[in-house]
Parts: sequence; structure tokens; C-alpha cells
Amino acid sequence: GKGLAVFTSGGDSQGMNAAVRACVRMAIYLGCKAYFIREGYQGMVDGGDNIVEANWASVSSIIHRGGTVIGSARCMDFKQRAGRLKAANNLIQRGISNLVVIGGDGSLTGANLFRQEWSSLLDELLKNGQITEEQKTKYAVLHIVGMVGSIDNDFCGTDMTIGTDSALHRIIEAIDAIVSTAYSHQRTFIMEVMGRHCGYLPVVTGIVSEADYVFCPESPPPSDWPDKLCDKLIQERNAGQRLNIIIVAEGAIDRDGKPISAEDIKKVVVDKLQQDTRITVLGHVQRGGNPSAFDRVLGCRMGAEATLALMEATSESVPVVVSLDGNQAVRVPLMECVERTQAVAKAMADKNWELAVKLRGRS
Ligand code: ATP
Repeated sequence: GKGLAVFTSGGDSQGMNAAVRACVRMAIYLGCKAYFIREGYQGMVDGGDNIVEANWASVSSIIHRGGTVIGSARCMDFKQRAGRLKAANNLIQRGISNLVVIGGDGSLTGANLFRQEWSSLLDELLKNGQITEEQKTKYAVLHIVGMVGSIDNDFCGTDMTIGTDSALHRIIEAIDAIVSTAYSHQRTFIMEVMGRHCGYLPVVTGIVSEADYVFCPESPPPSDWPDKLCDKLIQERNAGQRLNIIIVAEGAIDRDGKPISAEDIKKVVVDKLQQDTRITVLGHVQRGGNPSAFDRVLGCRMGAEATLALMEATSESVPVVVSLDGNQAVRVPLMECVERTQAVAKAMADKNWELAVKLRGRS
């Protein structure tokens, strides 16, 4: 059967293991040889023990684990042609010409480039005597399928990325814990959450925790935000609230592009209102812990669909990412999604927040 390899790249997220597991088991079920590539693109470039055949049992008891058990990395070597040449050789020597990449837009862009370059890489390997004419013909096309693992929900083309729901669970557990102590002492809490350029985590957190104020990157407040914030906090206290909760994204800015940190907000609340104010920075706690049921199911469905998409790929078909559309796992053209995601980043950098939100679409 065909050789298929799966790897995780870029930042880790909860639910990646479920995706790896489903992808491997669907491959075995369909009669393919399935491989893990450890440590992302670095493992592909280094080869050796980093590329190992997987079996049914080797993905057992991982669905409940956070992070990615096969490791992830950022890899400078793969950004160079020399690194990609080594990677191509390592794959061909094992009979692999089907790749499932689980990562962010950078990882997917790298995979797409690798695919475009594949035949010229094979030419070079043949010229160097590293592969045979027969291998070149047999593995003439590299098929790739992507899945997006990210807690930020920052990728265009899918309603949810793998890991976002679990991160929200971590955040609301922490907020619920803080609300009880804030209530007892009549405190104001400022909670910093991840999602540097994407407001999904802070906005949803704000809704489900009944926060009083949310600072999110796509909706930056005017520079007089301190007055508006204080008015709102006073209004809440006057209405009988014993506490205030403020959510701030780690990448929050004002309309002029000036960063707004949790410390800045605390200073305003303390100086103007003399409220007992504390900051909680959740940091990597948001990436940690077991995946939620939603992320496990999402990983399972996407992983299985990714393998199916690879098996159906032809030399003419465009590479796809497996996405969630409503309640369906669907295939969408990879580069369209990557380009839209990059256009959002550009719109954000240009301070064109309306365009950024429009481009991002439904989620
Ligand atoms: P996250 O959103 O979690 O940061 P990401 O996939 O966007 O995930 P990157 O650090 O951008 O993370 O990319 C991960 C790896 O993918 C890089 O270390 C590099 O090996 C590879 N990669 C990224 N962009 C390219 C590119 N343009 N060409 C080749 N390889 C790339």
C-alpha cells in the first residue's frame, strides 16, 4: 500500500493526538503503511529514528493526552532548499509520498512549497545518485493534506481549530475560581488570555464569564479607554456587583496601535478608583491539560478525513486542509485558506480591523 506520514509542527494544542491517532488508524484500515515523523520538520530533515512506522497499538492511549506525543518543533533547516532536499530523500527511502501536516499557517505554507518543489528535488536526488529512476517515477507526486492545530482559532477556512475549545475550558475554570475569591474580597480581577492577533479567546471568555470589559485586538478602544472603563466598573458596582472582571488579550492595543497591558489597566483602576485589583496571566496553562470532548471528536473526524483525502488525491488535485464547516468535516483548498489568513494578518498590521474581521468570516 501507499506510505503515509503524519507530523505536528509549530505550537502544540490539545486534540492533536486525537488527530494523529485517527489519521494513523484510518491509514492502516485502508491498507497503507503509516509513519510518525517526530519533532515536526526537524525530524523529517534529520531522518533516522525520527521517522518510524506506526501500528494500531502505537496510537493507543493518547487520545486523552494534551500537547502532541510525537513532538513539535520550529525548524530553520526546512526553510532552506538544502534541508528540504534531505527531507525528500528521507521520505523516498521509506516509500512515503503522502503527508499529513498538523500545524499553523507557517507549517502549511512550508508543506505547500515542498509539494511544488518536489519534482525538482527528485531530479537533484537522482542526479546525486541518492535515488533510482524507478523511485523517481514511483514517488513522482507528493500529496499533502493539512489540519490546523491552534488554541487561538486564528485560521481562515475553518469554524474551529483543534485545541481552541480545550483552551476555553482552561480559561473558564480559572475564571470561575477567581470569581469566588474576587466576590469574597470585593476585588477587581484582570485576566490576560492568549490569542495575540485573534480575539476569539478573549471575546468568548468575556461572554461566558460575564466579564465587565474585554480588550480584544480586532476592536481596539480609543485612547480615552481609561475613562470608559472606569465608568463601566463604577456602574457595575453601583448596581450591586461585589467584583469586576476584565479580560485582556495578550496582544491588545488601542486605536493608535499602542499596546495595552494588564499592568496598564491595573494602574488605571487603582489610580482612578482605588479598587483592590489583581492580575492573573494564564500563559501556557491555556495550552495545557487534557483535550475536551469536542477537541477529541474534532481531531478524530479531521484525522480520518485527512487520510481519506490523501488516498483520493490525484496529481491534478489541489492540496486541501480539512476544516469544520458547521458540523461537517470538509476539504477546502489549502492555499486559499493560507492566503486569507495572511491577508488578515496584513489587515491587522495596517490597522484595518473591519477588513480583518470580514476576511476572517464566520468564526
Ligand atoms: P503557530 O501558529 O503555532 O506558530 P505555525 O505552523 O504557523 O504554527 P511557524 O513557526 O510559522 O508555525 O512554522 C512552523 C515551521 O514550519 C517552521 O519552523 C518551518 O520549519 C516551517 N515553515 C514555516 N514557513 C515556512 C516557509 N515559508 N517555507 C518553508 N518552511 C516553512
